[in-house]
Amino acid sequence: MNKYIEKPNKQEQDLIDRLNSEIQAPKGSCAKCHGLGGWTNENDQYTFCDCQKEQMFFDKCIKAGVPRKNLGKTLVDWNLKQDVWGNNLTQNALDKKGDIKVLVERYMKVLPAIVAGNPIKIIPKVGNTINITSLLFEGGQWSGKTLLGTLIAQQAIKQNLKVEFIDWSELYSDLSGFENRDRQTYWSETFANMDLIILDGVDYYEMRNPTLSIHLDRVARSRTKSGKPIVITAYPGYDKIEAGHGWSSLVASCFQISLPTPQPPKPYAS
Ligand SMILES: [Zn+2]
Repeated sequence: MNKYIEKPNKQEQDLIDRLNSEIQAPKGSCAKCHGLGGWTNENDQYTFCDCQKEQMFFDKCIKAGVPRKNLGKTLVDWNLKQDVWGNNLTQNALDKKGDIKVLVERYMKVLPAIVAGNPIKIIPKVGNTINITSLLFEGGQWSGKTLLGTLIAQQAIKQNLKVEFIDWSELYSDLSGFENRDRQTYWSETFANMDLIILDGVDYYEMRNPTLSIHLDRVARSRTKSGKPIVITAYPGYDKIEAGHGWSSLVASCFQISLPTPQPPKPYAS
């Protein structure tokens, strides 16, 4: 029998199917796997392509609430030389960002230990040892606080920690009424149980909101009780938020870092 018209065996057919689907894979997808996400080797073991591993990681991040916009970025993307408008930083801002970068790198590295109850210890030239478990980045728009929060969240997820990235405005609206019982219970449990909480964009609104105060106090207390870290990013003025001792002591327990905030360029500079 002519072997060229023989029906392909199972293995050959698989190969043909694979090649066919490779041809059909969308253009512009991964060059390594052509959008298939992986391959089976000669020992019949399936291997995920790096693009697929990255996708799975991104899915985990999105599930944890990490905003899509900064996914996959690294500390290199936090530009130490220029601001968002491409203006060179002042020496003062440059030095400050350099110091912050070193601290954030160290924090990300030892996160599992921090979660396990071993804070970073900093011995200053004068005064007592500072124990760092939680961080608070204060900065205006374009200071990069959400990026820093995202980087820390990503690193924690890579280290298999349970992370929740929380947008302040969402928390604010859930905690602002007496109706959202389910959501309020959800937040209490989240603050009590997650290995790491990132609370992003804390902002003071000029309105009386006694319901928020009660509920924010409650979730803050459950975070403090858990002994686990929180990373808060906040706009200047966040310290005007009044929400009981639970909230103020949670905020005070954070190591506070103020980020250099770039000023928008004057459109008609002379
Ligand atoms: Zn691939």
